Amino acid sequence: MKYQKPKGTADIIPPFSKEWQFVEQAARDTFNLYNYSEIRTPIFESFDIFSRSAGDTSDIVTKEMYDFEDKGGRHIALRPEGTAGVVRAFVENKLYGPEHQKPVKVYYMGPMFRYERPQSGRLREFHQIGVEAFGSASPRMDVETIAMAIDLLKKVDVTKVKVVINSLGDAQSRSDYREALINYLEPHFGELSRDSQERLHKNPLRVLDSKDKNDQEIVKNAPSILEYLTEDAQQHFATVKSALGDLGIDYVIDSNMVRGLDYYNHTIFEIMVNNSSLGHGDVTICAGGRYNGLVEELGGPECPGVGFGLGVERLLLLLGEDAKQEIQKSDLDVYVVGIGDDARSYTQKLVQLFRENGVKADQDYLERKPKGQFKSADKLKAKFVATIGDEEISNNSFKLKNMLTGVEEDINNSDFESKIKEILG
Ligand code: ATP
Ligand code: MG
Repeated sequence: MKYQKPKGTADIIPPFSKEWQFVEQAARDTFNLYNYSEIRTPIFESFDIFSRSAGDTSDIVTKEMYDFEDKGGRHIALRPEGTAGVVRAFVENKLYGPEHQKPVKVYYMGPMFRYERPQSGRLREFHQIGVEAFGSASPRMDVETIAMAIDLLKKVDVTKVKVVINSLGDAQSRSDYREALINYLEPHFGELSRDSQERLHKNPLRVLDSKDKNDQEIVKNAPSILEYLTEDAQQHFATVKSALGDLGIDYVIDSNMVRGLDYYNHTIFEIMVNNSSLGHGDVTICAGGRYNGLVEELGGPECPGVGFGLGVERLLLLLGEDAKQEIQKSDLDVYVVGIGDDARSYTQKLVQLFRENGVKADQDYLERKPKGQFKSADKLKAKFVATIGDEEISNNSFKLKNMLTGVEEDINNSDFESKIKEILG
């Protein structure tokens, strides 16, 4: 083949695009119930926005960024995640201002780009659905986002999930823990991977997130950040846990979980699924947390925030067969068949009339004989077939057959609207 899509990208083609629409609609419906509004930000941003927010030592910034210099000499990056751009927009549009009701709750969906080794559920262009809530420091806000993610998953019939939470505490907790972690890791310096050696002093929490097997062994016995939380941070985390309990949300705590982005503090969480279609073991499909310093970091006032991002490709791999069949169920109401050469102009008018009355309709455009047209109606699983032949033309009518019951009616064009409402409901 002469032209092929770039490595790590995918075409979303019919009929599978319906599955995407289904998931996106479920997300819109869910977020709407929680009073979130949509925000759309550019696919590319200044590189600095991502290095500033995700952190200079994050995998995203050091290895995975699609960045380039544009013709004006600007350092640009295709967004690797959604939060940084949304925060940039929040600041630039002064959504923190008094005229905006707090918290400001927004959601987005769209493509993200990371230069990764492509495999199942891991692409270079992938899609995230995400939410951000600005202006509330309440632990109950953290819990709302978690509950909302679980609700969305439920809507698409993904119910066997594992919610993993941790707290990274506030600045004080973090710097106390940082010191303790460095003290623990230093004696192991020689055994650590190159990446982790480099990060040990720059950003030791990163070492906890290492994918290296040997690093993971060492990290297992590292001190827990939960032992270093300040009074305030402990209180925040305690409320998160009790509020999750109040909502009947089961969770486990993993004190070694730090997430791949530097901007988090206090609550972080991942929603995992153990499903063979995603590979071995628990795979994360949704991840998020609180980022109280990020708005300031990107030039805004002090303003707390919390949110999550959910991988659409991974979610789609979890859709069950029943759900897929339901999504793909034919929804063509009427296929209009013309018999004889004179019928063409009548069928096109009739098809149009159906559509103008909110009825999903189609007809033949390949000059097929009636037999072929009926076959098309069959293939498209049309619920009704309308037929126009010479007799119908002269009577100013058409035949409408219910394909489920086999009942056929003659319908005069003069009472089209009332009849159609009656028949198609
Ligand atoms: P991983 O450890 O799997 O690389 P991550 O920590 O980099 O994940 P996040 O940045 O938290 O992932 O993104 C949130 C979600 O977005 C992930 O849980 C996953 O569902 C999805 N995601 C991340 N990277 C990719 C990718 N390259 N292809 C497809 N989905 C992705
Ligand atoms: Mg990653």
